[in-house]
Amino acid sequence: MGHAERAHALLSASSAHRWLYCTPSAKLEEQFPDTTSEAAKEGTLAHELAEMKVRNYFYTTDFGKRKLTAGINKLKKEELWQDEMVGYTDEYLDYIKSVALAMKIEPYVAIEKRVDFSAYVPEGFGTADCVLIGGKVLHVIDFKYGKSPDGRVKAEGNPQLALYALGAYETYKVLYPIEEIKMSIVQPRLPDGISEWGCPLSELLAWGKYVQERAELATKGEGDFSPGPKTCKYCRARGRCRARAEENVRLAFSPDKGKLPPLITNEQMGQYLTRGADVAKWLSDLQDCALAECLAGKEVPGWKAVEGRGSRVWTDMDEAFSKLKENGISETVLWERKPLTLAQIEKVVGKKDFETFVGDKVEKAPGKPALVKESDKRPAITNTISAKDAFKEDTV
Ligand code: SF4
Repeated sequence: MGHAERAHALLSASSAHRWLYCTPSAKLEEQFPDTTSEAAKEGTLAHELAEMKVRNYFYTTDFGKRKLTAGINKLKKEELWQDEMVGYTDEYLDYIKSVALAMKIEPYVAIEKRVDFSAYVPEGFGTADCVLIGGKVLHVIDFKYGKSPDGRVKAEGNPQLALYALGAYETYKVLYPIEEIKMSIVQPRLPDGISEWGCPLSELLAWGKYVQERAELATKGEGDFSPGPKTCKYCRARGRCRARAEENVRLAFSPDKGKLPPLITNEQMGQYLTRGADVAKWLSDLQDCALAECLAGKEVPGWKAVEGRGSRVWTDMDEAFSKLKENGISETVLWERKPLTLAQIEKVVGKKDFETFVGDKVEKAPGKPALVKESDKRPAITNTISAKDAFKEDTV
């Protein structure tokens, strides 16, 4: 690995939400392997498709229909390909088109643009999905393929996008009179998956100064550890980090002082839930880490690895079924015919066709009540009956 690559790996834009707040994390993470999940590989595939569509729309002469079709056919051969990617990437393209059309003048468009933000972060660079510059506005758009509501990414104050914006600004400042920054995240697999934010250039540059200071500390592995659910979530040191361990032990086990009533109040309940948000996750990371150590033949006092409960599988299902039938077992009891779930059918048919053909046959059943943070977008519910509803019942 070359020096530049090492620097990029050390302080990447995608991990900026971590090293900006927990500056020693970058150096600490270096000793743990970087693994790519299946979901990340799926995201890469969707990104490739998205890029081709945007390229085809804005640069039709260089990347026409034939190239697009050939590219898509190639992607379709990939193991992780899913037809639903077509609809989701259309949503991303539609969003970019709407941004471009809303600009006062025809924008300059850069796709999968390598941006250099080394003026702020030593040897820092990354790849922005889409950069549009129209008049005084620089707009950075990022495509995210995650589908977990927990993984919803907000554009507001997003350090990854802000670093891309800084890099894009440095590249284009001599060519365009940029004064305003806009950032958008398009996460089409989530309902309401578009997040937008903007600020004047001066605000971005002031943040750039803060980044310079933090990056200097991070490069040296200095500064204070800052454990927290968001910061530690994907940190490669999360299972072994002492600062995180100590913080979670403190949060979980340090009792409140003095003589207190035997029951906790609702206020304290809320406080404990907030304080303990990372405790369960930390214990599970710790278990993963200890299991890996035991499997590697190392000792973790008090613990060992054992074989989990296995499940039985046919060595040859066709042959087993034939034998069952020969012995008088009816085929009808061996198979069950059941419909795919609504979500599975939508995946097979595609979002648009699903909506056209059977959209009016779908209604949303209320979900099971769930406890979420106050900042969640959904309105709060209760099961107490309002005076209006009670009156309605009386008059029936
Ligand atoms: S686990 Fe958390 S506290 Fe520890 S280095 Fe990583 S981000 Fe920092």
